[in-house]
Amino acid sequence: MITHSTVYVGLGSNLNNPVHQVKQGLRALNTIPTAHLLTHSALYRSKPLGPPNQPDYINAVAVLTTGLPPLTLLSKLQTIENKQGRVRGAERWGPRTLDLDMLLYDNRQSQEPQLTLPHPGLYERAFVLYPLYECAPDLVLPDGQRVCDLMQLCPAEGLQKIGVQTLVWAIQTKVWTPLK
Ligand code: ADP
Ligand code: MG
Repeated sequence: MITHSTVYVGLGSNLNNPVHQVKQGLRALNTIPTAHLLTHSALYRSKPLGPPNQPDYINAVAVLTTGLPPLTLLSKLQTIENKQGRVRGAERWGPRTLDLDMLLYDNRQSQEPQLTLPHPGLYERAFVLYPLYECAPDLVLPDGQRVCDLMQLCPAEGLQKIGVQTLVWAIQTKVWTPLK
């Protein structure tokens, strides 16, 4: 019997029409053999980490099921990045057409540099936590931490939720409200 795993993937882009890149990335995830896109978050706009002289990012989180083992899936994600024109520069966190990070693979934990699970940036990045919460509000990480608790500790400053209307997180009422 084939067992299917649940995988959370973080998407990010800040080059060559980032909204298009992220939407294209979501479609591409569905073409991975044995993978099915279960749901995905809205698109979010965020300020860049790392070098400041680069455009804002568009981010989203996707939830997949797949029969592929983690390293095979990672290589499929990298193939998609490459197909969408990803050039790996020397600069860490530099601009990119598409970044696909494996945030979670079931409850796997790994400290391997090639594939660290959960993704180490997950715990403190608003552009990961807020869309992750949108996909799975009850999600508990392999170490027992709840995504909703981590999100409460992580200010959403500079994060905008993009839809028909652009929304910003209201710190007091804890709801997404229209950008004035
Ligand atoms: P970053 O996303 O940190 O800016 P890259 O996307 O270029 O950098 O990824 C660099 C390396 O990170 C990849 O070669 C990959 O093997 C490794 N890596 C480790 N853990 C993960 C993970 N959870 N998801 C994606 N890549 C990972
Ligand atoms: Mg990456």
